[in-house]
Amino acid sequence: MSAQIIDGKAFAAEVRAKVAGHVDRLKEEQGITPGLAVVLVGEDPASEVYVRSKGRMTVEVGMASFEHRLTADTSEEELLTLVEKLNADPKVHGILVQLPLPPHLDSNLVINSIDPAKDVDGFHISNVGLLGTGQKSMVPCTPLGCLMMLREQLGSLSGLDAVVIGRSNIVGKPMANLLLGESCTVTIAHSRTKDLAEVVRRADIVVAAVGRPEMVPGDWIKEGATVIDVGINRIPSGEKTRLVGDVAFESAAARAGAITPVPGGVGPMTIACLLANTVTACCRANGLAEPE
Ligand code: NDP
Repeated sequence: MSAQIIDGKAFAAEVRAKVAGHVDRLKEEQGITPGLAVVLVGEDPASEVYVRSKGRMTVEVGMASFEHRLTADTSEEELLTLVEKLNADPKVHGILVQLPLPPHLDSNLVINSIDPAKDVDGFHISNVGLLGTGQKSMVPCTPLGCLMMLREQLGSLSGLDAVVIGRSNIVGKPMANLLLGESCTVTIAHSRTKDLAEVVRRADIVVAAVGRPEMVPGDWIKEGATVIDVGINRIPSGEKTRLVGDVAFESAAARAGAITPVPGGVGPMTIACLLANTVTACCRANGLAEPE
């Protein structure tokens, strides 16, 4: 194995420590405690796990955590009323409605009812538009975490060939916009892409966000490329299960210059960026300088 393993867990701990420092200063110097509200509708087991760790880490960095758990049969009106209440609450600087929502609820409607200034997930149509036009916005947490790791690893990304596999609104598209903002030459690949292998082979940066276990084999990776594996896939392993990414780690690591592992890569960075976005939202709401 030749690639450097990008330690997302350690990097995320650094980001959280910085966030904790900003939170301390906000409390001491301004008397403000940044607050994050997380809304979970229903009992999706994966969402339960995410919401629990988000709440724990919010408290660990010194912020206020407000958890709202609603039953799966919650009506759209009830959910929208709660979002309205959180929009108006000065103690809440960030609002996250955990996706996916139960099918009877319109996710777009709900997300677009969040005050864009409190939309720490960056999914509100205003934030999407601001990001797409290169303006200051709330940036979705997973792509932001990926970008931070890429910058840390490579410094300037200008002129590099980047391929993003996946075109979802929460990962692929914002990731591509961020890379474009860094002056990469960006290709967005998806399930209809012809000859994906060739597309990936020319990339200096590969971001895989598909949700298919190990679908990118090592021999697609250009020598020395930087590989960011967003995928989280649970596969059987003996009598148990284990997590793998969208990239075949061992064979890709033999060719890549640097690669994120699964678990321990992108995942921890996502929550760290959520906390960082909440501090940013708090500073903006109070007319204070934003942390870098
Ligand atoms: P989606 O299912 O919304 O999107 C998957 C994308 O992959 C689609 O654009 C789809 O193309 C594309 N795709 C599917 N099959 C292929 C194929 N054979 N070749 C090329 N492209 C393909 O997923 P998400 O973006 O929400 O998530 C992707 C992965 O990232 C999942 O494993 C998810 O669990 C993980 N994830 C991890 C996070 C983290 O914090 N680490 C956060 C968010 C997601 P098409 O549009 O044509 O259907």
